[in-house]
Amino acid sequence: MNFHSILNPSLLKDQLDLLARLYNKADLAVDNFVKKSGVSCPFGCGSCCEGFVPDILPLEAAALAAFIAIKNRPMAYEMAAMGLSSRDGSTTSCPLYNKETSYHCSVYEARPLICRLFAFSAVKSKTGEEAFSVCLHGLSSSGIRKAKGGMLKESFGIMPPVMADFGMELAAMEPDSSADRKILSEAVQLAMPKVLFIIGLGDSDPWHSGPGLKPLLTKAG
Ligand code: SF4
Repeated sequence: MNFHSILNPSLLKDQLDLLARLYNKADLAVDNFVKKSGVSCPFGCGSCCEGFVPDILPLEAAALAAFIAIKNRPMAYEMAAMGLSSRDGSTTSCPLYNKETSYHCSVYEARPLICRLFAFSAVKSKTGEEAFSVCLHGLSSSGIRKAKGGMLKESFGIMPPVMADFGMELAAMEPDSSADRKILSEAVQLAMPKVLFIIGLGDSDPWHSGPGLKPLLTKAG
């Protein structure tokens, strides 16, 4: 599902178009790494989303908000007004985690960059050296579980994607907000009113009779 197709022409739609391309590039890099390295997740494992809520940028939050608005408009209004809460009431797991859905993620196609790269990407040290470890729950057909620097390619047969490199590309899409990371639940609630408004642009009722979510204007002196 194209998470930005629902938006009316706008700067946000153009930015989400770029974001979709970056996500696609990350997915291809991970697929390639998985095929050549023999590193994989155990079937049905969702442990990386349990006890973890990612920090994301506003643009990624807008992608999630648009995706949710396509799938379930009443839920989108509810999230804008009331925030996000997890299905099982957990305060430590990602609120979008859902064991009943594919890959246990209710927004799988629009999931943030860190969720795409987690467990299949290298980290970079302060000196620029790259290191990769197979996730605690992960499988490695070669038996090798970690390597760094010059040994990475030799150990895994291919260089893993580097999280920091993709992160830089993401930050460059909207430099003004590149330091504005927020926990996913908060970021999506903030992004949702803007996304719903852009979806409704051109309608006589851009809010589709949803709840009054426009930010209150401060009164002049
Ligand atoms: S967005 Fe999806 S993949 Fe990412 S932590 Fe939440 S449930 Fe997991």
